[in-house]
Amino acid sequence: MSQPFLPFALPEIGGDEIAEVVDTLRSGWVTTGPKARRFEQDFAAFLGGDEYHCIAVNSATAGLHLALEAAGVGPGDEVITTTWTFTATAEVVRYLGADVKLVDHDPATLNIDPAAVEAAIGPRTKALLPVHYGGLAADMPAILDLARRHGLKVVEDAAHALPTTCGGALVGTLASDATVFSFYANKTITTGEGGMLVTRDAELAKRARVMRLHGMSRDAFDRFTAKVPSWYYEIVAPGFKYNLTDIAAALGIHQLKRAHAFQQRRAAIAARYDELLAGLPLLLPPKPAAGDVHAWHLYPVRLTDEAGVTRERFIEKMFEQGIGCSVHYIPLHLHPYWRERYGLDPAQFPRAQHTYERIASLPIYTRMTDADVERVAAAVRVALGR
Ligand SMILES: *Cc1c(COP(=O)(O)O)cnc(C)c1O
Repeated sequence: MSQPFLPFALPEIGGDEIAEVVDTLRSGWVTTGPKARRFEQDFAAFLGGDEYHCIAVNSATAGLHLALEAAGVGPGDEVITTTWTFTATAEVVRYLGADVKLVDHDPATLNIDPAAVEAAIGPRTKALLPVHYGGLAADMPAILDLARRHGLKVVEDAAHALPTTCGGALVGTLASDATVFSFYANKTITTGEGGMLVTRDAELAKRARVMRLHGMSRDAFDRFTAKVPSWYYEIVAPGFKYNLTDIAAALGIHQLKRAHAFQQRRAAIAARYDELLAGLPLLLPPKPAAGDVHAWHLYPVRLTDEAGVTRERFIEKMFEQGIGCSVHYIPLHLHPYWRERYGLDPAQFPRAQHTYERIASLPIYTRMTDADVERVAAAVRVALGR
């Protein structure tokens, strides 16, 4: 017990990130400017080229809001998503005056269940909003097929999914309308706060860029004269203030270069946990399809009926041994706002409810040493009375 507390998550910020931030501060350009532009260009290159429009924003929440707005979601529409997510996924639907239709997850993957999505599609359904939970790709072939057959938009919540692949293709390059990544402090790469909206749809990108900054456009002027004065703009909509600062983008430029190496370290930690925790009364996290990359943002374990300890007590026992754990997620159907707004009952989400009562996330981040990983696994054994 003399060991220091091992937090649930920590960012890894190196000398290159710090030097780039200092360079930004010295440059005099601290808000959105050349570094945000470079981060967007680097992100497009990371995904594979210029056909990806990358729009840097100050959070994934902002990016999801912009993506749904640009996809035409509005009052009277319904958007289908999973109860097994963070509230940001769903709240943006309400910003737009549309309604959220929550569905259950598939306990084999913890991702949204395409059969439940299909059953929930109705006349008001406008869009599907899958989440790549923990960094494991959702069943995108099934989701995209449903969208095609029913004429629906698809926006991916890829807050956990950099880098994740689905059928060998990076999330961000799939045939959805837009994909949104998060660079929040505890995500797989971080800019402190930040996000990236990615789309191959030039019109969607144009709308999102305008709405990212107050609904400001310089295009109208172009129609009448070749030369737009630097001071001229027009407001074409009541837009938002969702731009990413150059200070944050400076971090992102270098974090992105490390994204694959970070993933490899987290995958190695996950593999070591799998070895060390084998044989305990635990359901270990679902694995990716053969040949696919799991981003391993989370390492969630589920207590089986033989565990002999509640999830609450399990997490307490981990804390008593100096190890931070968390729960991803308290499903949306249990939160007062969502429960009351849509009259939800746990019986409507039996699988997510069952998962919720048994799940805990163990620490998984690049700054953990091999000894930290062994320490966590040993603490799990103790917490399970083994
Ligand atoms: C973190 C997270 C978000 C929101 O990301 P921000 O960048 O903090 O806005 C959205 N969805 C999921 C699933 C998340 O985990």
